[in-house]
Order: sequence, then C-alpha cells, then structure tokens
Amino acid sequence: MNLGRMSKPETNPGAAEPIRDCPFCRIAAGAAPAQIVFQDEEIVAFRDIHPQAPTHILLIPRRHIDSLGVANSEDAVVLGRLMLAAAQIARQERPADGFRVVINTGAGAGQSVFHLHLHLLGGRRMAWPPG
Ligand code: AMP
Repeated sequence: MNLGRMSKPETNPGAAEPIRDCPFCRIAAGAAPAQIVFQDEEIVAFRDIHPQAPTHILLIPRRHIDSLGVANSEDAVVLGRLMLAAAQIARQERPADGFRVVINTGAGAGQSVFHLHLHLLGGRRMAWPPG
C-alpha cells in the first residue's frame, strides 16, 4: 500500500457503476470537494465534514457498495485494504490513547450516507458501549 500517492483523479476508475447522486462517489471521482488524506486505486480517505473527534476520517472504496450489509466475497480484498489503510492513517495521525473504527450499517445503526465507509475516530476518550 503506497500512502504517498496523493494525486486527485478526474475519474473514478475503481467504480464499475458510480452513483451520480451519491456524495461519496462524487468525492471519489473528484467531482465534489473533500480534504483528502489518502487515496489509491481502490480507496479514498478524507476528513469528515462534521468531525466527532479531533481525528475523524472517512475511508471509502471507490467502487460503490451501499453498505457492509450487502458486501460479499468480491469485496473481501477492498474491505481488508480499508482496515489496513485506517490503521496506517492512524499511525500517521497519532491520536493519543488509541483510535476507533466504526462502520454504521443501516439507518437504525446511524448510517446516513449509503456508500460503505469506515469512520476512523481518535484524539479523545471513547465511551463504551457506543450510543
Ligand atoms: P454515517 O452516518 O455513518 O453514514 O456517516 C456519514 C458521515 O459522512 C457523517 O459523519 C457526515 O458528517 C459525513 N459526511 C457527509 N457528507 C460529507 C462530505 N461531503 N464530506 C465529508 N464528510 C461528509
């Protein structure tokens, strides 16, 4: 994984069928602004527009997947890459006292954007259980 690549593509090469109205497909395609912290052929990571912690970064697959609830074995590699990218970004951001990775799945669990994303949160004390 090359975290040094920060170029901003004009298209979304990983998306077989980017969803035009999906805000995260638009970010992945470079068609909407975002504070991108990492991207490669399969993944884009950018700062959350409404941060819930000093470090709050979203990691998405370029290829549109509605949610973790509909992911399948074809998504295994990119799901693993998302987890490893989250860990590597956390090492770079160095949030004190660890970090948390969250995938809200379904409206009842708090998912509001239906393009699978990992929240990387850190820099403050985390409560358990989550609300
Ligand atoms: P969730 O509620 O788990 O679906 O998380 C969606 C997250 O996306 C929320 O934390 C929002 O603040 C964040 N968000 C929505 N639109 C944008 C955007 N254009 N840029 C960055 N973050 C966004």
